Formats: sequence, structure tokens, C-alpha cells
Amino acid sequence: MPRPSLPPSAVRPAVVRPAALPLVALPLAAALVLSACTGPSAAAGAAGPSASPSPSSVEPSTPASGGHGEAAPAHWSYTGAEGPEHWAELSDEYGTCTLGEHQSPVDLPAVPPAPTAQVELTTGAVTGAVADTGHVLQLTATGSEGGLVHEGRALHLVQLHAHTPAEHTVAGEAVDAEVHLVHEDAEGLLVVGVRVRTGAPSPAWETFLEGEGSGAPVRLDTADLLPAGGVFWSYAGSLTTPPCSEPVRWVVLADTVEMSAEQLAALGEAHGDSARPVQDLGDREVTAGVLVRTAG
Ligand SMILES: [Zn+2]
Repeated sequence: MPRPSLPPSAVRPAVVRPAALPLVALPLAAALVLSACTGPSAAAGAAGPSASPSPSSVEPSTPASGGHGEAAPAHWSYTGAEGPEHWAELSDEYGTCTLGEHQSPVDLPAVPPAPTAQVELTTGAVTGAVADTGHVLQLTATGSEGGLVHEGRALHLVQLHAHTPAEHTVAGEAVDAEVHLVHEDAEGLLVVGVRVRTGAPSPAWETFLEGEGSGAPVRLDTADLLPAGGVFWSYAGSLTTPPCSEPVRWVVLADTVEMSAEQLAALGEAHGDSARPVQDLGDREVTAGVLVRTAG
């Protein structure tokens, strides 16, 4: 886990990013991004604690390859002695996984409540390397035109990854996969969850999977990853992986998208079970909104 106390010079990436991609100078925000959903796995932290905690820390020239960093975050998994029910025991930094009162994912109601909010999402090209973090396959953006506006906040897409099966359930049902598009601003994170069912092959995910195999950067259009729009559930939650940091604003789309059985199998072969069990909603309210898409 990157240390928020590090000076910016120590935590900012050496990577030169396109000027069009806004940088958030807050180490805390950067730390949250690294651990967003996928968490700073041992593999992702292979470069050691002095490595950049920014989303561009996974570079094409330094693919994640085994956790040999001296101060890498405590290893965790989705099963067994390092599984979700034990995450808080694995490191002092993971205590929120048990003690937090706004944890994710959650079970969502079958019928969203009446929409009271809106997300204006701009689709566009996202470029970056696809790597195995040790827990999921993730595209870390080195260039991104994707972003959204929510309740006066303007956030930019910094990475995307997929869990199998879906993490958020709807009336108890988990579909085959869930894509997380992680957006960042100076305040923190907003993750758009896109649920995936088996169906037609997705050309965009074919590019993603080929990129993971080759190690070469890929270029996707987020328009090809998202449903046309529609209603979403929204609530205040957390990262779904250690350190389970709060808060993260969640926007989970009601409409699903499709991937082929072969594509889902490829994700499953990498990490067959990469879904944290649903957490108690507690006193949180699940609201709803409408996603409005525009091409960037
Ligand atoms: Zn995730």
C-alpha cells in the first residue's frame, strides 16, 4: 500500500502522460486509484514501495511478474486462509474490510427506485497496457478520453478491469462478470459497474484479452464497453478488495452487456473467482439515476 505521507516526487509516476489526461496531485487519491477494486496485489506491487502508486504504474516495459517487493502489501486471495473473511487479519492496513460500515459489493434491489440523479458520461478512447494484477486483468490508462460528471464532480477514467462472476448481485443473482470502470477526481473515486451476461462476443474485450497476452498497449473505445445508457443504482461503498477503503461512489448500471462464453472463459482462466461476497448494506440508502452517454 503506498504511503500517503510520501512526498509527491516520490509517488508520482515517471511516466509521461498525454497532456489531455489530467493528473491529480493528491497522493491519497493516487493511492486509492492503485488499490481501486483490484487492490495493490503482491504482483502489482512487484516494483516495490517506492514505485508509483498511480494508475500508470503498470507499464508495458514492467509487466507485473510476481511479488518480490520488500514491502509489498500483504498477500490476499478470494479463497481459503487468505480469502475475504480473513482479509482484515492479514494486515493492519486491511482492518476496514471488517470494521468498515460502507463496504462493497452489496445486493441491489431488483427494481431500482425512482431516479433522482444523473451521470453524464463521455465515451472515448482509452489507451494502456493490460496486465494481470494477481487478482484481475486490468487496463491501466496512460491516455484516456473517457470521463463523467456526477453531482458537480468531473471525474476521469483511470483504469478498468473485470471480475468473474459479478460482484454486485441483483435480488441475489450474480451475472457472469462485472466490469469496473474506475474514475477519479481530487475527492476520490467513482466506479461504474457494468454487469456482463454470456452472449455475443465483444470486439473491445477481444482487444483487451489480446493485449493481456501480448503485453503491448491496447486502445479501446469506452463506447464499446458500456450499455446504451439507462438506469443505474447508486450508493456509497468501498473498494471491493483490500484495503477496502471508503468511500467510493458506486454507479452500477441496470442494463447488461454481453461477452462470448469464450471471452468469459478467458477471464475465468486468469482468475476464476474474483468476486468478493456481498456486504451488509446497513443504514445505507441505494438510490437510482439515469446514465446519459455522449461521444467524446
Ligand atoms: Zn473491481
